[in-house]
Amino acid sequence: MSELSEIKTKLAMSSRMLFNAGLVDYSGHISARLPGSDHLVILPHPVSRATVKPDDMVITDFDGKLIEGKYKAPSEVNMHARAYKARNDIQSVAHLHNHMVATLSMVDKPFYPASSNPGAFFGPGPLPVYMDPALIHTIEQGDAVAKALGNADAVMLRGHGSMVVAQTIEWVFAGCVDLEEAAARFYKASLLGPVMIYNEDETQRVMKQRRKDSVVQKIWDHNAAKTKLAGLMNGI
Ligand SMILES: [Zn+2]
Repeated sequence: MSELSEIKTKLAMSSRMLFNAGLVDYSGHISARLPGSDHLVILPHPVSRATVKPDDMVITDFDGKLIEGKYKAPSEVNMHARAYKARNDIQSVAHLHNHMVATLSMVDKPFYPASSNPGAFFGPGPLPVYMDPALIHTIEQGDAVAKALGNADAVMLRGHGSMVVAQTIEWVFAGCVDLEEAAARFYKASLLGPVMIYNEDETQRVMKQRRKDSVVQKIWDHNAAKTKLAGLMNGI
């Protein structure tokens, strides 16, 4: 299988897995950099995230302009494109309208690591927040989201959702799963009383145990199996 075919297959799988995990519905998308180029591969605008196939994927440049594909790119493609432009270190990006993260982004309260397994995946300190609630349609807006992201692995989009970045599609997928679970726990704990957030040392120690290829692969394999059991991997 060629490198491009492998990327398209992993994107189709991860899109269906994100759908099965309740992290995308009719919108939300995951993409990958085409190695060694200033192009990205992303699922198209009109195709269901639950049934998208490898051949449906489209290629754009880092200005969001369509280079190849039978469909148009998602309307928020510039969020992905400008993140790749700003960060040479990342190979994959996901944008989610994830429910619990979007909920936390609606209150003026920082979202800190406060639970083991998912909670410390993103490291110490509060998750950065991009404050403009408008959808990300322009290059300038994409640049502003990338600026809010900085060197972090994820940024909350106020009232909207989140963007997660990483070195591989598998790491982005695991980050999406962990971010939503951490947000759900943080929200529930907040209802009970003040959240005992992890200090820097606690976060570093928990993060070291969580951020491993073996853990990421376990999350990927589990969700791939669940999605297959749900009958959503047909045609891949
Ligand atoms: Zn969006």
